[in-house]
Amino acid sequence: MSKTINQRNNSAAHFAEAKKYFPGGVNSPVRAFKSVSGPPLFIRSGSGCRIMDEDDNEYLDFCCSWGPLILGHDNELIREEVIATVRKGTSFGTPTVLGNKLGKLILDHNRFIEKIRFVSSGTEAVMSAIRLARGATGKSKIVKFEGCYHGHVDSLLVKAGSGLATFGESTSAGIPEPFARETLVIPLNDLEALDQVLEDHADDIAGIIIEPVPANNGLLLQNPCFLLALRERCYAHGVLLIFDEVISGFRVGFEGAAGLYHIQPDIITYGKIIGGGMPVGAYGASHEMMSNIAPDGPVYQAGTLSANPVAMSAGYAALRQLAAPGFFADQEYRTKYFISILQDYCAGKNYPVHFPTIGSIFWIAFAQNRIQRADQIDPKKMELFKILHHELLQRGCYLGPSGYEVGFVSAAHKIEDLEEAAALICEAMDLVFASV
Ligand SMILES: *Cc1c(COP(=O)(O)O)cnc(C)c1O
Repeated sequence: MSKTINQRNNSAAHFAEAKKYFPGGVNSPVRAFKSVSGPPLFIRSGSGCRIMDEDDNEYLDFCCSWGPLILGHDNELIREEVIATVRKGTSFGTPTVLGNKLGKLILDHNRFIEKIRFVSSGTEAVMSAIRLARGATGKSKIVKFEGCYHGHVDSLLVKAGSGLATFGESTSAGIPEPFARETLVIPLNDLEALDQVLEDHADDIAGIIIEPVPANNGLLLQNPCFLLALRERCYAHGVLLIFDEVISGFRVGFEGAAGLYHIQPDIITYGKIIGGGMPVGAYGASHEMMSNIAPDGPVYQAGTLSANPVAMSAGYAALRQLAAPGFFADQEYRTKYFISILQDYCAGKNYPVHFPTIGSIFWIAFAQNRIQRADQIDPKKMELFKILHHELLQRGCYLGPSGYEVGFVSAAHKIEDLEEAAALICEAMDLVFASV
């Protein structure tokens, strides 16, 4: 009954060519499909919740460009506004009314920031937020959590050192050890480790950065009481709390995780959805905190293409639709429905897999028990994801090409599409567990 997707010959040929031009054939590493089988898909077009590759195969898309496309592909309003803007020129390097419109829309609907600065990527947003935290406090160390990703910022490409040491070890070549040592790494959901690091280092810590909805290493949903305790400890020790909401912002609600959990961070970073599919990032905070930023204050940060008008118009067209009443409730409703089909099917078969979900994010966790920390993930189980990914590509369903990636449901994924996808995933799960 399953339709069989033929082959990836054209994608394979394009990938062979791309290897001549780009390291590993790609411009961002996970695109190379190293954790799954076969050549990466070269995507030609997307419409709604589906994408089409260069071999004319169509897929239900749950990667959605790694999160930005909460309205699906080729959203009509975004497309029309972008075209209208492009006709007037692509960049001026001056303030524009479009920047004002997007800034006002965001600030009018977000109780947790009073001022915002646009940049061009999530990485840039985080890098700038960290500089702001250091500039505002005059301290230099940053605490991050194992399993949270914050872009390819030097001081955050670190993991916990060996033993009990919380000083970071870089996870990339090219990061001097002294930079890595400015970062302290502790496990998620571990109040004791948090208290210890604050006791030992609070006088040197500028800020603690967390993905309040950790979604880059599986979906490691935290207990709200842990996040509240984190907030309280930061106040008590004079340490700034930075929420990296590059994924959760505009995803778990217009106000992101800050709004969902009713927690006021000191600085919030955004990216992905904020640009409506164009390269935009941002960071925001109180008027007072943002007064540290140049030209008002001494913390320098700039960008030739920052608040680019075409990108601003895409972001504005996207976020206007998200601000409509009921948008996020509907997203969550359809996602929960989709996940309940998968959960019920796999529970009925006693498959050791479960599906954590929040808002319109989900993860396929090949484990029996709830996972809240990076070290609870069994890397060996990624072999199962590899089989699942392959079988789903054969059937016309595209997940991000790694078992550590979460899936995203967009507004374009209607109930029928989700039922179709769920049937394909259940069928593929049978093959995954027949193999073990
Ligand atoms: C994607 C992501 C980033 C990096 O954003 P880029 O636009 O890829 O630079 C930073 N933080 C989080 C939480 C992310 O998910």
